[in-house]
Amino acid sequence: MTPAERRAALEAVGSEVRACTRCRLHAGRTSAVPGEGHADTEVVFVGEGPGMNEDRQGRPFVGRAGDLLVRFLATIGWTRDEVFITNVVKCRPPDNRDPEPDEIAACLPYLERQLGIIDPALIVTLGRHSMGRFIPGARIGQAHGTLHPVDPATGAGAAMVYAMYHPAAALRSSDVERQSYDDAAGIPAALLEARRRRETTTSTATQSSVLTAATESTTIEPAPQAPTLF
Ligand code: URA
Ligand code: SF4
Repeated sequence: MTPAERRAALEAVGSEVRACTRCRLHAGRTSAVPGEGHADTEVVFVGEGPGMNEDRQGRPFVGRAGDLLVRFLATIGWTRDEVFITNVVKCRPPDNRDPEPDEIAACLPYLERQLGIIDPALIVTLGRHSMGRFIPGARIGQAHGTLHPVDPATGAGAAMVYAMYHPAAALRSSDVERQSYDDAAGIPAALLEARRRRETTTSTATQSSVLTAATESTTIEPAPQAPTLF
């Protein structure tokens, strides 16, 4: 897929999400939140679902949890425009309750399609619900900061997944916040490992990457073009 085709395909998913009525969450939304970021990135962050601010703006992670996510990224020299950020469910659960299993199931095809289009090397899960999709049976207390292969059924067969706590949990607990900074510091190494595995398991040339500079030094090239919202 060319970068233009990838952007168009993500736009198409976004349009479907904004019109979607597949589960009960559509009834309470102000705006659906398909996700946003760089279409040609190697790294996709997957949160749980939109909160109040996200529902108002139609953009992921724009409230306090989003501010903290941006600070985690800044510690490794990354910005949110260089990655793609989305959620397991694209519409806000009422009163910020956890998404129900049938809502997650109804919404998953969108995430699978986004991952299929972007074909990331690394997925970073934020919180239990996102982790549960990619590392079934794992417990966040043990799995945070660890890297795992991804089941191809998730739509991202060539990716590895790195688990983090949800930033909202870090806002509630200074222990979790400290852990999360440590886990964020491990993201560049996780990307390197994911790249290595991808190179040895895929014979086809990998897509041109946005995050191409040496991640050992935790610096990356900025996105080559203006970020696109989806
Ligand atoms: N929490 C999430 O899980 N996702 C968002 O987009 C915002 C807050
Ligand atoms: Fe559709 Fe997902 Fe929104 Fe449910 S949460 S209405 S499946 S976009």
